[in-house]
Amino acid sequence: MDPAFQDLDCMAILRLEAEEHERLRMPDSRPTRCEACDNDFGGLFRCRTCLWPRIVCCKCLLTAHREQPLHRIEGVPDFKGITLAALGLVVFLGHGGDKCPKGVRDGNFTILALNGAHDVTMDFCGCENAAPRGTQLEAMRLYGSAHTVLDFELVRHRVDLGLIQPERKRARKEGKGKGEGIAKGVVR
Ligand SMILES: [Zn+2]
Ligand SMILES: [Zn+2]
Ligand SMILES: [Zn+2]
Repeated sequence: MDPAFQDLDCMAILRLEAEEHERLRMPDSRPTRCEACDNDFGGLFRCRTCLWPRIVCCKCLLTAHREQPLHRIEGVPDFKGITLAALGLVVFLGHGGDKCPKGVRDGNFTILALNGAHDVTMDFCGCENAAPRGTQLEAMRLYGSAHTVLDFELVRHRVDLGLIQPERKRARKEGKGKGEGIAKGVVR
């Protein structure tokens, strides 16, 4: 076992979280304002993925996650999970993160990432010279077709674990010629 985890008391960590939730539910200590803007635009939320778990309003949450659509969000003070897409986050493609004037909305989209599956709302570039949908996705390091794609980090993680074998390596093992491509992978 990694020495960093040797003395880790997982139950103690879960207890700490339960105590924190309990404290935030109490009328005296329940947060009523956003820690960033001191308002309450659209309710209060906390990101489970961000390193700094501030309690913020919906507006500040969406601003902070414009380029982080794969973070896990919980409501405050009920701590129920809710997706960024349900709160109104849209991922814009084709214009460096900005909205396309002729954007084509796809609200039925799933990204498979290291921390699970994420329902997201995508706005594809719909300009006359727009790149194909697959190319727009690849520019964001998302791979796949139709409505479900893989995040690049997930692919790399599975390659690192040996769960996907790049074709060039596989071809070498099987005694085939060089340069037969590395892009495609084989899932074992
Ligand atoms: Zn705010
Ligand atoms: Zn976050
Ligand atoms: Zn466009």
